[in-house]
Amino acid sequence: MADIYAYITHKDGVAEDSALELVTAAKKIDAGAPVIAIVTGSGGEINSVADAVAASYSRVLKFDHEALAYPNAEVVRKLLVNILPADAIVLIANDTFGMDLGPGLSIKLDSTFVADVVDIEGVDGNLLKVVRQEYSGMVSTHVTADISSGAVVNLRPGALAPDESQSAAGAVEDRSADVGDLTVKRTFLEVVEAEVGDVDITKSDVLISVGRGIEDEENIEIAQELADAMGAVVSCSRPIVDAKWLEKSRQVGTSGQTVKPKVYMACGISGSFQHMGGIKGAPFIVAINKNVKAPIFQMADVGIEADILEFLPELTEAINKS
Ligand code: FAD
Repeated sequence: MADIYAYITHKDGVAEDSALELVTAAKKIDAGAPVIAIVTGSGGEINSVADAVAASYSRVLKFDHEALAYPNAEVVRKLLVNILPADAIVLIANDTFGMDLGPGLSIKLDSTFVADVVDIEGVDGNLLKVVRQEYSGMVSTHVTADISSGAVVNLRPGALAPDESQSAAGAVEDRSADVGDLTVKRTFLEVVEAEVGDVDITKSDVLISVGRGIEDEENIEIAQELADAMGAVVSCSRPIVDAKWLEKSRQVGTSGQTVKPKVYMACGISGSFQHMGGIKGAPFIVAINKNVKAPIFQMADVGIEADILEFLPELTEAINKS
């Protein structure tokens, strides 16, 4: 089995949750194999990231270079091509950056690419067996990928449980001198932070999240009344923002906000991976949907088959009476 590498994404000196999910993925590929983390960036903040992930990885390769200061996937791709062995198995989070990085990397390494993997079933000879989803999560597909010439595997954030065993105690190796030529054609311009609206949904412990099932702008009030009764905040899926029923700062998802509530109540939301990708920290998920086959029910701790236009006002009334 070739060495397994994990590319670590981080922000403000803190590794994303996916860093520990990639450890789980690596162990599902080969429980005994050393797993090597790659941390890139510029300046002091990557030291804290490298030190933090060292508890979970056998080795941590740190690359500190000014060209790696910003999230430019083309530069990172060039670095990885410079330093990785041809048959490497590379694990990457299937977030916006990973979707940019992974496919081109596999082409440059001439290895197999598998996108948006939600589970790993193991390895049989040269075949890696993974699970993906089709049709917005309605169908799971079992896929085999030939990894004899290496592979780049993009894993859906949040799909695998994080490995919190911290059992590796790996050494951090400063490999900054090995970055090689990082000249690329794509130029990083600026980071545009998401706007923070009248409420900050990322700070709320309880979110009442509405999706297309709310049907009409005036029905948002039903969710707001429930949120008021529960001391919660209203968030939403992207179609609600596209319809301009709520502001963009309330959108949960890969192109919206990343939230970490304790309780997430999904009301009339189907459970697309772009939406669920914005929910971190394994909250208690309550899903209310009138379609019993909605994918959200597969991710929910409690599923309620109901019409939200009837159920939410009844719940609000019951809470207010209690
Ligand atoms: P639908 O998928 O239409 O689901 C509506 C659900 O409501 C259905 O399950 C239906 O059964 C149920 N329903 C209908 N009426 C009722 C009722 N009266 N009572 C109860 N249930 C009812 N989406 C995001 O949310 N966040 C993102 O950040 C995001 N980023 C994206 C980025 C990209 C690049 C792309 C391509 C898409 C992105 N999307 C995002 C869109 C995403 O793919 C889905 O289209 C979206 O999440 C679906 O929203 P929904 O669940 O509200 O709507």
